[in-house]
Amino acid sequence: MSVEPKTVRCPHCGKNNRVPAAAEGHPRCGNCHQSLPWIVDAEDSTFTQVVDKASIPVVVDLWATWCGPCRMVSPALEQVAADLAGKIKLAKVDVDASPQLSQRFEVRAVPTLLVIDRGRVLARQAGARPAAELRAWVEEALAGGSAAESSAATGSAGAP
Ligand SMILES: [Zn+2]
Repeated sequence: MSVEPKTVRCPHCGKNNRVPAAAEGHPRCGNCHQSLPWIVDAEDSTFTQVVDKASIPVVVDLWATWCGPCRMVSPALEQVAADLAGKIKLAKVDVDASPQLSQRFEVRAVPTLLVIDRGRVLARQAGARPAAELRAWVEEALAGGSAAESSAATGSAGAP
């Protein structure tokens, strides 16, 4: 799979924009210049480009097609991505199609959610939550909140 641009309708003015999966900075509407929600798909072959090298923090949704709670958490995360447009990017990873990522992040339950900033895992949690809780969790991770940081620091500290 390549990283094809997606068409995103601007929530501010309604204009359709083509939004790339990976780019410098973050996408803005070509018409009204407001920040656009950045919601992309990622997999083993594109994760480095789409997530690790992203210039803003990325919320990663590790989901599976057969997972009921994932179908509830995905729209909640899309709401968070819209609320925090310009501050975060949302990347969805189908764990069954991305065995390397499942292994890298030791995914034992879906959905597993990660907040990643420049390749470093700031926070992770498993299971479904309502949008308001997810947003609070993401904002806390971005603020460097201690509650969001559990075992995440150990795995990435020595990484190249
Ligand atoms: Zn607009």
